[in-house]
Amino acid sequence: MTVPGEAAGALLRDAAAAPYAHLDELTPPGGLLVVVPHPDDEAIGCGMALAAAADAGRRIGVVLMTDGEGSHAGSARFGRERLVALRQAELARSLAALAGGAEVPVHRLGLPDGCSTESDLTMDHLECAVAFARPLRPRAVWTTWEHDPHCDHLTAATLARRLAERLGAVLWRFPVWGRFGEEVAHHEAELRLFASPPHLARKRAAIAEHRSQFTDLIDDDPGAFRMPDALTAHFADHPEIFLRG
Ligand SMILES: [Zn+2]
Repeated sequence: MTVPGEAAGALLRDAAAAPYAHLDELTPPGGLLVVVPHPDDEAIGCGMALAAAADAGRRIGVVLMTDGEGSHAGSARFGRERLVALRQAELARSLAALAGGAEVPVHRLGLPDGCSTESDLTMDHLECAVAFARPLRPRAVWTTWEHDPHCDHLTAATLARRLAERLGAVLWRFPVWGRFGEEVAHHEAELRLFASPPHLARKRAAIAEHRSQFTDLIDDDPGAFRMPDALTAHFADHPEIFLRG
């Protein structure tokens, strides 16, 4: 995936006129399952809504699809094991910041980061995720958007759709990379914005926990992913975007 240089695009223009959703529309009282392709998508994609959901008493669980081991594959200092441990710790701190003390269980699927496809999703993955989610009694499933130009985000959307069907829950997708650029199609989906100013600080704190992605913490891999500052600022400031349908 080519990382865009600026926070602009067709979806963002359309989203500017979209109605704001109440939290109950995005996640009715009960449980909420969030399917994230990588540690950090929960913060940049839906962190403010997650914090609001936690404060409203929703039981939240996270299915983590990949461990995010592909972000710095060329680093000598951070080999795969060390990088995965770092990203797990960042995710745990991010969720702690968002949930404000509520416990948020995480179920790791361990799909390959950066190259997952629908065919990697086995019945075992689905059944284990269903078994993880059932005690939460989810009434909503949130995930990344199938039009995000990143294979893992598409795979996560496929998995989440299957989970929502199995669990009888409403499915909402939050676009991350598909916000930017002109080559996205979303006219078939209902578009909603979400903002909760009291929860913005917790979203920003959660984003800041992902130091491996948003800073030069790992500086020995010239080909590594590093979020451009303009996009970090966008994710930290912009209302969140959700799509249904
Ligand atoms: Zn991602």
